[in-house]
Amino acid sequence: MPEPRAAVRRMAAYSPPSEGRQNALRLDFNENTVGCSPAVVEFLKNTLTAGALSIYPEYSEAKRELAEFFGVAPNEILLTNGTDEAIQVLVNTFVDENAEVLLLRPSYAMYRFYAQLAGAALQEIDFNTDLSFPLEALIERIRPSTRAILIANPNNPTGTGIDAPSIERILRRAPDAAVLIDEAYFEFSGVTVLPLLSRYPNLFVSRTFSKVYGMAAMRCGCLFSQATNVEFLRKAQSPYSVNAVAALAARAAIRDRAYVRDYVCEALAAREILYAGLRDLGIHAFPSQANFVLFEAGDRAIAIRDELRRRGVLVRDRSYEIPGAVRVTIGTRAQTEKLLQELRAIW
Ligand code: PMP
Repeated sequence: MPEPRAAVRRMAAYSPPSEGRQNALRLDFNENTVGCSPAVVEFLKNTLTAGALSIYPEYSEAKRELAEFFGVAPNEILLTNGTDEAIQVLVNTFVDENAEVLLLRPSYAMYRFYAQLAGAALQEIDFNTDLSFPLEALIERIRPSTRAILIANPNNPTGTGIDAPSIERILRRAPDAAVLIDEAYFEFSGVTVLPLLSRYPNLFVSRTFSKVYGMAAMRCGCLFSQATNVEFLRKAQSPYSVNAVAALAARAAIRDRAYVRDYVCEALAAREILYAGLRDLGIHAFPSQANFVLFEAGDRAIAIRDELRRRGVLVRDRSYEIPGAVRVTIGTRAQTEKLLQELRAIW
């Protein structure tokens, strides 16, 4: 029998609870809860011909358009199969086996996943107890040997963020590490370090079409860095990992700016409704800069999740990493009212 690599043997299997979600109110994955812009679907209908599908993907047009939209040069952008591939390619490009990688805890599970898969030596720094970013603790742990630092801003599942000047402190302290700032929820927080790209050769920024753009099924994201870095990332990426349909959909999505703006407005209004509703129930919630909120359900976190599921509302239990925590995605105001109505019935 072939022997799997030690790094793979050591890993726990990751299985997201992602089956059978079609007919429920899906407040468990931080997706856009109403779907992508109708302009994207229309564009795909008009563009997808038998001939178009028979050709291997070509990316130059998509790269040009996306680079312009994001305000970078075409050689500073890498299209990726979701943020997940951005993380994977970054780790595979910069992290040798046993090299030191700094992560925050709790954070997005795929940082740990790809770093472990690469056989890296993980160092995890806990978020503060109020779930604010542990800046001083992180800065203190940076060594000349640190190869990568992976940060979500705002962070999932805490919803809390870190400001640009603090990120600059990290970048200055770790000149030889690849510092990823994963901005999957940027549209809800409005905080970005993309404009800092030209000043920091160790800065990597990722964005995704899975969240506010409502295209999680497409698996499309972007990784930005200085051109020299992008050349190396490109060498470590499989040549056609982003399918042509996803690249087309991304181009159509960025043209409908109003759709994204309106969805963000709706979600931010819904977040206020959720805070108020939770407060009325006497439930403590953490302030969030993203389209999801963590609240405290004490020892009933799992029971609350299961009971809501029976009532057709999916939420995530996070009590395994933050005691008593349940995470809910913010959708529309009407969807939030529905969640509150069910929560009131069972609380
Ligand atoms: N980054 C963060 C912080 C996330 O929470 C998620 C989704 N849960 C992702 C990335 C995944 O994005 P994608 O679908 O682009 O791989």
